[in-house]
Amino acid sequence: MVKPKTEEEIALMRENGILVSKTLAEVGKLVAPGVTTLELNRVAETFIRDHGAIPSFLGYEGFPAALCISVNDVVVHGFPSDYVLKEGDIVSVDCGTYYKGYNGDSAYTFPVGEVDAETRKLLDVTKDSLYRGIQAAVAGNRIGDIGHAVQSYAESFGFSVVRELEGHGIGKKMHENPGVPNYGRKGNGPQLVDGMTICIEPMINAGSKSVYLAKNGWAVHTADHKKSAHYELTVVVRKGQAEQLSTFDFIENNVKF
Ligand code: MG
Ligand code: MG
Repeated sequence: MVKPKTEEEIALMRENGILVSKTLAEVGKLVAPGVTTLELNRVAETFIRDHGAIPSFLGYEGFPAALCISVNDVVVHGFPSDYVLKEGDIVSVDCGTYYKGYNGDSAYTFPVGEVDAETRKLLDVTKDSLYRGIQAAVAGNRIGDIGHAVQSYAESFGFSVVRELEGHGIGKKMHENPGVPNYGRKGNGPQLVDGMTICIEPMINAGSKSVYLAKNGWAVHTADHKKSAHYELTVVVRKGQAEQLSTFDFIENNVKF
């Protein structure tokens, strides 16, 4: 049984949500051909610490960085590196904060310079599938309603949904129950309750849904090496309409993509 958060807890989680959202926007300002992914990580870690928070991914089960940075065929959990971003790449940036005893967690996939039309479509559809999922995250629905909304939308464009990874509850711990799969059947799974805080994070592949784990034990790649996109927001389940605790507004209102 998942305990809903109190309004006091939600207020602290909102502070985390704003901070991860602003951090992603800081990173987004730098994304361009010629920049290394380590540089993106450095800027994010500095920004998070300057706001009195802790980058929660750093050291999480041994993860070596503040951000997961996943380029092109890497679905999630890529390590920042000396890889130099180039025109036409896409880069998924996943960011977590720990502040005042609670967690924030969000991700955005940025195009690097101009991307081809199929790639632009993958980004748009993945982000829209997240919003479809959020629309389904209302009290009285079930977890399967979220997954169904994401999956049916993404697949209607011929894209595929990664099965091995999923969204999650969030609170004092970054990963809490329930799991939030990006596929599912309407009316299946745990019931959504007012005050439940969850991260919805579709990982959508341009090609097949198959993935494999890199030798480093972290980076998840598409098996066909086609591109994969990933967007994540933290929301509170409410009656009638979910409330977003994080937002892409800082990214999309400050930087033109
Ligand atoms: Mg995340
Ligand atoms: Mg997450």
